[in-house]
Amino acid sequence: MSIFDQATHRSVQWQDWRWQQKNALRDEPALRIACGGWSEEITAHIEHNLQDRKMQITPYYIDLIKRSLTSGPITDHPLWRQVVPYWSEQVAGDYDGTSENWELGHEMKTPICQHKYDNRVILRMTNTCNAYCQFCFEALRTLQVGTDKPNASTDSFKDSVAYIRSNPAIEEVILSGGDPLMLADRRLEENLAALRSIRDDLLIRIHSRALSFNPFRVTDELVAMLKKYNVNAFGVHVCHPLELTADFAAAVKRIQSAVPIVFSNMPLLRGVNDDEATLHKLFIDLYRLGVKPYYLYHFMPFSPGRPNIKPRSARRSLLWIVSNGACRTLPCPNMYCRTHKASLRCRCWTLKSLKTCHILKCTTGSAIIVSVIGKGTGAVGRMPESTHGRGNDGHEARGGSFY
Ligand code: SF4
Repeated sequence: MSIFDQATHRSVQWQDWRWQQKNALRDEPALRIACGGWSEEITAHIEHNLQDRKMQITPYYIDLIKRSLTSGPITDHPLWRQVVPYWSEQVAGDYDGTSENWELGHEMKTPICQHKYDNRVILRMTNTCNAYCQFCFEALRTLQVGTDKPNASTDSFKDSVAYIRSNPAIEEVILSGGDPLMLADRRLEENLAALRSIRDDLLIRIHSRALSFNPFRVTDELVAMLKKYNVNAFGVHVCHPLELTADFAAAVKRIQSAVPIVFSNMPLLRGVNDDEATLHKLFIDLYRLGVKPYYLYHFMPFSPGRPNIKPRSARRSLLWIVSNGACRTLPCPNMYCRTHKASLRCRCWTLKSLKTCHILKCTTGSAIIVSVIGKGTGAVGRMPESTHGRGNDGHEARGGSFY
C-alpha cells in the first residue's frame, strides 16, 4: 500500500509533520511509482546522481506535483525540477562536489556560528531539511552523501551563545540550516530560550523552507514558542506560486499571529520561475498573504545543479522588474546577483549594465538593491550587502552575500 493510500489529505496522519518527514521519499523506485512511472532514461539519470547525492521529498510535496501535472513531460514540472536530481549534464564548472560553497573559514566563530556580516550572525542549527533542493548552495551539508560537516552539538551551540553574548555589536541572530524547524520543539525551545537570555533587544530571525515542503510543522506549540521568545522575523523560502497552497497560507497566518515580520526569499531558477508571469504571480500572491517578497537572488554560490537550473538571464528578469514599475510597490523584492566570471558566464552583467541597473535604481527611486558579488567586480562590489565580494582570489568570491 502506498503512502498516498495510507493517508488522505485531511487526515490527522497526513497533517502530522513528523509523519510527513518519516514517509519522505528517498529513492528512485518509490518516487517513480508515486509519480505514475517514467522512462528508463529518467531512472538512469536519477540513480546515477543518487550515488553521491541525497534526495528527500515529503508526500505533501509529491502530492502537489501530482495534482499539478499537465500533459507535458514531468521533467519540466517546476516543483519536480527543484527536488529531483535529474540532469544528464556533468556536474561541471564551479562546483566540484567537495569544496565549500558558503561558510568561509574565517567567518566561522564556532562550528555552527557564522559571522558573515558586521551586525548579525547566522547559526546553522541542523544539516537536514524536510526535502532537499537540488540547487542547494549549502550542498556540502544538505545534499552530499557522507558529509563531514559537523552537526550542531550542544557544545557548539553553547559556544555560539557565549560568542554572541561577548559581542554587543551583534544586533541580530539568524537561525538557519538546513532547516531550523527540523529540530524538535523541546530542542528549539531550549535554543530560543538561551538566545533570548542574551539580551532583550537581540533580534531573532528564523529562515525556513518548511512551509513549502511540510507546512504542518507550524503547529500551535511552535507558534506559542515563537511568541514566548519574541522572534522578530520569519523568512519563508519559496520558489513557485504552486507552493502557495491553502496549507501554506494557513501556516503563514499562524506565524503572523506571533511574529511581526514575515518575508520571503526566492532563488531565481531556470525552468522554475525565470519568466515574468511566474514571478509576477509569486510576488503578488505572497503579498496577498501578507508576506513581503524580500529578495530574489540570482543563483547563489556553487551548487551541484547549477548547470541545469541556473537562469539564462538574470538581467532580463531584473529589467522586467524595474521597467514594469513593480519596483516602486511593496510586492517587489530586492534582487541579489552574482557576477562570478561575469564576462565569461553572463555577458550581460558588464560593468556598464550594472551601472545602468544602479542608475535605474536612483532615477526611479526604486526599492531594488542590486547586490553584486564575485570576481572582477571590485568597483561595484561595494554596493550594499556585498561586503564579501571584494576578493579576486576565487575562494573569497564563493562567499556570496544575502540574509
Ligand atoms: S531547504 Fe534550504 S538548506 Fe534545505 S536543501 Fe533547500 S535550499 Fe538547501
